[in-house]
Amino acid sequence: MKKLIGIDLGGTSVKFAILTPDGEILQKWSIDTDIQNDGEKIVPNIIDSINHHLDLYGFTAKNFWGIGMGSPGIVDRQKGTVIGAYNLNWRTLQPVKQLIEAGTNLPFYIDNDANVAALGEGWKGAGEGGANVVFVTLGTGVGGGVIAEGKLIHGKSGAAGEIGHIVVEPNGYPCTCGNHGCLETVASATGVVRLAQDIAVEFTGDSQLKQLIDGGQEVTSKIVFDHAKQGDQLALAVVDKFYFYLGLACGNIANILNPEAIVIGGGVSAAGDMLLKGVGKYLNKFAFPQVRTSTKIKLAQLGNDAGVIGAASLAILSSESK
Ligand code: ZN
Repeated sequence: MKKLIGIDLGGTSVKFAILTPDGEILQKWSIDTDIQNDGEKIVPNIIDSINHHLDLYGFTAKNFWGIGMGSPGIVDRQKGTVIGAYNLNWRTLQPVKQLIEAGTNLPFYIDNDANVAALGEGWKGAGEGGANVVFVTLGTGVGGGVIAEGKLIHGKSGAAGEIGHIVVEPNGYPCTCGNHGCLETVASATGVVRLAQDIAVEFTGDSQLKQLIDGGQEVTSKIVFDHAKQGDQLALAVVDKFYFYLGLACGNIANILNPEAIVIGGGVSAAGDMLLKGVGKYLNKFAFPQVRTSTKIKLAQLGNDAGVIGAASLAILSSESK
């Protein structure tokens, strides 16, 4: 049985996995990402690591359908190139596909990291293999990927699924994209803290979180959610505002796509069931009746494995379509 290789390229580590064509992980490992000298060692290190591990496990290129990879930056899927991946120090065009195919003798497929994570969760995680799944990741930024009618949606210029830049507050905080009030400005880890600091200014009730903020202590999104779990009044007001914004964005996504599931992942989603309930309340408010009863909000299930699993699926999807 031919296998798949999935690669999740990130700014601190490169994760690898060998998987069955059904998406079960057989082996996984990772290496540090060497971003020195414009990241020139990243691709050679990936090639060496693959060849080394194939040797180690007694495999040759013939045992595999191919390699799939998720990458930060702007990805050209046809040419297999990446540009503008600043956390890798890749400012200029990187011919990733050409180099990896030459170095491993395997067909190579690439997509951006958020899309690949969406494929992973859609295939083997909370999406349960459904044909319509939207993935929203709440981390240092807010990313997303859309699978509709079984296909990952890329759009005209590959910018489809930029869920973090749905505007939820037209006169809101400035965003890195140049706009104001994008979901990312209020629903990322730093966005939650910003909401907390702003709401704290007006808050007059009794709150331990307010004491932390007023005392100049470092506050994280986890601290905000932990205080909300303990019933802190300010924290509850902050997380309710967060649920409102995320629920508004999810309601609009759901009205357009009516997916089986909107899957929420990333560090902020560690808030768990409380988050599902809170966002669900606003999804019910903003979603169209038939959408409300058929689209579910779910928590991501694969954690760090979503990237390698989704990346590997690029190799099987692409070989099937040939
Ligand atoms: Zn934006």
